[in-house]
Amino acid sequence: MTKINRSKSESLFITAKTYFPGGVNSPVRAFKSVEGAPIFMKKGDGCEIWDEDGNKFIDFCCSWGPLILGHNNKGVYDGIVAALKNGASFGAPTVLENELGELILSKNPFIDKIRFVSSGTEAVMSALRMARGFTGRTKVLKFEGCYHGHTDSMLVKAGSGLVTFGESSSAGVPEEYANETLVLPLNDIDALKKCFADFGKDIACAIIEPIPANNGLLLQDKSFLTALREICTEYGALLFFDEVISGFRVGFNGAAELYGITPDIITYGKIIGGGLPVGAYGARNEIMAMISPDGPVYQAGTLSGNPVAMAAGIAQLTECAKDGFYEDQERRTKTFVNTINAHAKTKGYNFELITIGSIFWLSFDGKKTIRRADEIDGDMSKFAALFSELLDRGVYIGPSGYEVGFISQAHTEEYLKVAAQAFCESLDAVMG
Ligand SMILES: *Cc1c(COP(=O)(O)O)cnc(C)c1O
Repeated sequence: MTKINRSKSESLFITAKTYFPGGVNSPVRAFKSVEGAPIFMKKGDGCEIWDEDGNKFIDFCCSWGPLILGHNNKGVYDGIVAALKNGASFGAPTVLENELGELILSKNPFIDKIRFVSSGTEAVMSALRMARGFTGRTKVLKFEGCYHGHTDSMLVKAGSGLVTFGESSSAGVPEEYANETLVLPLNDIDALKKCFADFGKDIACAIIEPIPANNGLLLQDKSFLTALREICTEYGALLFFDEVISGFRVGFNGAAELYGITPDIITYGKIIGGGLPVGAYGARNEIMAMISPDGPVYQAGTLSGNPVAMAAGIAQLTECAKDGFYEDQERRTKTFVNTINAHAKTKGYNFELITIGSIFWLSFDGKKTIRRADEIDGDMSKFAALFSELLDRGVYIGPSGYEVGFISQAHTEEYLKVAAQAFCESLDAVMG
């Protein structure tokens, strides 16, 4: 296979390294676990993207999830332009905030009120403060293999041995902070019971990605999520679903609706902003009453509820809310995934695409069910080789084997057929 020309990207990256740490403004973009310089993108339309060297790819990164309608969607584009003509920002309320709030809350049985912020990280950070303010407790419980953005208390990994106290996973996070975060493995009800027996009365909330999709795709058995709901209720801790990926992705109301489990707090991000920076947190009235200016928990934002971003979100979620939207997404995803999995099976490759909704993950662990982060032991060098074969065949996925891929409305059956063929050929080149 002839290698694509990446010379412009390579030279742009050399310049970028003089401006930004690692040459990037978010670390996963730096291509650390795959070969070569990051590819500098120039344009996107539908499910296709073009780089600075003029190469064209079918895009399965979709900006890491936000672009569920694909690139340059007409409705989103028109919404953004119309809002922009009236001004980019006021720092005063606009009717667009009401419209996006109404669109979300009128369909959502889990939350009564919402607050818009500008990123998933900010949503999680604010909602953790709210959980602590509401319960008067300090500890939060998280699960190994879930990502919740980069607020200090979430940059914590499991401690060594049997201790439940976390250790900071980033320099600059004091151990005193990390000690307020408890970390457990996913899918372990016994560990959950023991942790709550020891610390239950100090736990403000348990935060989880109900569909963990930031460290492989660690699909949970519903029984685990149900057990978590029950034990939180028993000890008076809040159940916090971080649905920054799964919200508006596996269904309009995310994993809470899919599993039929009612959390106390939900965060959204990614899809909610139509490709512009929006995050949100929501809960029932009594919990949201804690937030300033109603209550004593402070939280604010100069660009929160930004009208241009709200317009993008309104246009995108209006499309998502239409009848059959998610069924259609899932149907196209299944055909794509099944084609590739059937090929891998026929050839006897230790490879499977794991999927839910319109998310998929490339697992090099064969057929085994993976529910915990420490169960992933596939050969990631194979991912790097596959990534590069896919690029040469015109397919772009996120440049890390722990990241998931996304299918948008713009990925029509025809495009998916072409992409599936490229996947099968790339697998043959790497595993054959
Ligand atoms: C992406 C993500 C975040 C962080 O959102 P940012 O907008 O990148 O700050 C938090 N939680 C989950 C589950 C995410 O997928």
